Amino acid sequence: MMKKIFQYIDDHRDEYLSLLKEFCAQPSISTTHTGIEEMVRMVSETMRSVNVEPEIIPTAGNPMLYGELKGTGKRVLGFYNHYDVQPPEPLDEWKSDPFKPEIRDGKMYARGVSDNKGSLLARICAVDAWQKVYGQLPLNLRFVYEGEEEVGSPHLAWFAETYPEKIKTDGFIWEGGERYIDGPLQISLGVKGMCYLELRVRTAAMDAHSKHAAIIPNPAWRLVHALSTMKDRNDKILIENFYDKMDKVTGQDREYLRNLYYNEESIKNRMQIGSFINNLTGIDLLEKLLYEPTCNIAGIHSGYTGQGSKTVLPCTASVKMDIRLIPQQDPEEIAELVRKHLRKHGFEDIEVVQLSGMHPFRTNPDNPLAQTAFACAEEVYGIKPAIYRNAPGTTAMYRFCHKQNLPVLMFGVSNEASQNHAPNENIYVEDYFQGIKMITAVLKKFAGF
Ligand SMILES: [Zn+2]
Repeated sequence: MMKKIFQYIDDHRDEYLSLLKEFCAQPSISTTHTGIEEMVRMVSETMRSVNVEPEIIPTAGNPMLYGELKGTGKRVLGFYNHYDVQPPEPLDEWKSDPFKPEIRDGKMYARGVSDNKGSLLARICAVDAWQKVYGQLPLNLRFVYEGEEEVGSPHLAWFAETYPEKIKTDGFIWEGGERYIDGPLQISLGVKGMCYLELRVRTAAMDAHSKHAAIIPNPAWRLVHALSTMKDRNDKILIENFYDKMDKVTGQDREYLRNLYYNEESIKNRMQIGSFINNLTGIDLLEKLLYEPTCNIAGIHSGYTGQGSKTVLPCTASVKMDIRLIPQQDPEEIAELVRKHLRKHGFEDIEVVQLSGMHPFRTNPDNPLAQTAFACAEEVYGIKPAIYRNAPGTTAMYRFCHKQNLPVLMFGVSNEASQNHAPNENIYVEDYFQGIKMITAVLKKFAGF
């Protein structure tokens, strides 16, 4: 049965590709509020073209778009995507205009083509192809489009809480995902969480001549001493009770790692590092990357860091830290553990400010949507998918899904060199068409699951 619809998709490549070009030619930069109204109009029109009546939901920031499509079956599937993009800067590093999509060597280059207009449209085009070939969809669909993903999804939790019936589904396919350039599609079942902290210390009323360093305390040393109690040289995090609430790594979790393609040599070469932390390699390396939390120093600031020398004794120091979390770690609890740890080690003068927090989230791989996607990926791409129990990064998935415990999968039309957020963002044109086919396969299989 898929043969017919796959043929239709192949016969309409030009049409689907020019739609993608149109979308990418329209800037929609959330952080500078560039082109948002025009983009909302374009998304609305495209929804209408597949018989979905768009509902524009205003927020305190950029509006969200919502739509439904009734099918013949009982199942309800949701698509979550975002129509906003990152700013294109630095412009002189782009080989072509970020908002004039160009195809070179089988790849389309444009800001937003990967993150995530390509995936957004692959889903729309799949619905279009289905309607043209078979008529009514075999299941019910919900479309949720956000315009503020690139600025941290400030209204997504509000949306989920205000409109629980709109997201009540048998599962959501999240914004996007990658394929290994010479390998299978990646399907992620979750994300790490994050606790973002700033640690601040002040040791005097004002900066002083550094001759006083013999007798007046230095805040940078204070901070360095405090930080050195938080992690040892083997990368073990020493914050008391930090690891207590983490889900245990199961045999199945480790089994998934075996199918991941991770080119250690090329990453070492690109990053110019001799080895990974603790000389890890193979499954152990992946286990640390995906199933362990981090305690990263994102930036340290104190005193004079300009050109040449200045002999100064600073009075303040601060450090920004992003701590990536594993289910069931909780960002607020982790911030509290850091405060407790510092107090216990005599650093009660160091203030801990939590700048943001996101919970980790994981979907059970045994649920029908996950099983559907695994089978369809193998069918469409001809190779078993690489299953990520959780991605190493973080998104607002938990805010959206946890109350209803919705299953969520991430997969899309990007590849590991898609340059999201960076100059020369791109996808393989072929991945876009494969992505459309993948969604049609999911529609069919999930409807009958
Ligand atoms: Zn992004």
